[in-house]
Amino acid sequence: MLPRTGRVLLIYTGGTIGMGLNPETGALEPLDFNHLIARMPEFAQLPTGIDVHQFSEPIDSSDMDPKLWSRIVEIIVGHYDHYDGFVILHGTDTMAFTASALSFMLENLTKPVILTGSQLPVNQLRTDGKENLITSIEIAAARRPDGTPRVPEVCIYFSGKLLRGNRATKINSEGFNAFDSFNMPHLADAGVNIIYHDDLILHPDFDLPMTPHFAMDSSVVVFTLFPGIQEETVRYLLASPKLRGIVMRTYGSGNAPQLPWLMQVLEEACQRGIVIINITQCAAGPVEMARYSGGFLLQNAGVISGYDSTVECAIAKLMHLLAHSSDADFIRSQMNRPLCGEITINE
Ligand code: ASP
Repeated sequence: MLPRTGRVLLIYTGGTIGMGLNPETGALEPLDFNHLIARMPEFAQLPTGIDVHQFSEPIDSSDMDPKLWSRIVEIIVGHYDHYDGFVILHGTDTMAFTASALSFMLENLTKPVILTGSQLPVNQLRTDGKENLITSIEIAAARRPDGTPRVPEVCIYFSGKLLRGNRATKINSEGFNAFDSFNMPHLADAGVNIIYHDDLILHPDFDLPMTPHFAMDSSVVVFTLFPGIQEETVRYLLASPKLRGIVMRTYGSGNAPQLPWLMQVLEEACQRGIVIINITQCAAGPVEMARYSGGFLLQNAGVISGYDSTVECAIAKLMHLLAHSSDADFIRSQMNRPLCGEITINE
């Protein structure tokens, strides 16, 4: 056996990777992960020491919520000094939301936090789970020649690609190639070797402590424009008394229909302190609000650019900022600067 190089904590939250078929219903349900890996000889051969911390009730990731994000942060904080890195096993459905949220909740992260999962359960013959899990463990334990972690940021590893977590999005509900980051190159590509693109990986200040944040404010909504959108519906949504933030999915480079009522309701909402972020409905490319008159009108109404953010990241960042400030202008200014590599601003 090879000498152990590093120690990684596996945090099993649930998801297909650890599920099995319920013989009565035929549906997939979460299993005990400790039990599953105890029956996999590959784990005994890994050169990295692994411990497993599993949610007391593993979930399908469609049940993920901000309280459970804060639970994950607690687990990482509680074990931070004892491990070289963390691998979070998570369902694919909301993995990009969790990765985005953790990137803001773990400020000045100095260790790898790699989320992974699979499209087929790890105990099935054609599973993609074993490769995803084993490579994620290797990445979480990888170090630079100076001994610092190779990837000290929140990432998603899936099907040969290491992606910045707050840039990733689920692109396929069937294929093994389930994630990509259209506005950011991969941080590493795993083939015969793992090729790290070191120039793209974040370099935190290793002398500063990691600062955890636990609070998220989910008084937010994602609102998608479409041809024929009705004034009554939009007014009703924007009048919602607790609403504090909106991720508005616009057309192309941040464009919107030039409807006077739409601009008026948006302006009124912005003046009431609701933070409205403009994110494109396109899978790739940034918002450039001054490019077409519709986008320009949105800008005049007080809507701010989300640049090239994913929807998952914009909503998580908004929830994080709203939980820590009641000053709408401050939140708008923070939304317009990258906090941990989540947006690209070319100005
Ligand atoms: N429904 C599952 C989940 O997100 C799908 C998966 O794991 O891929 O938990």
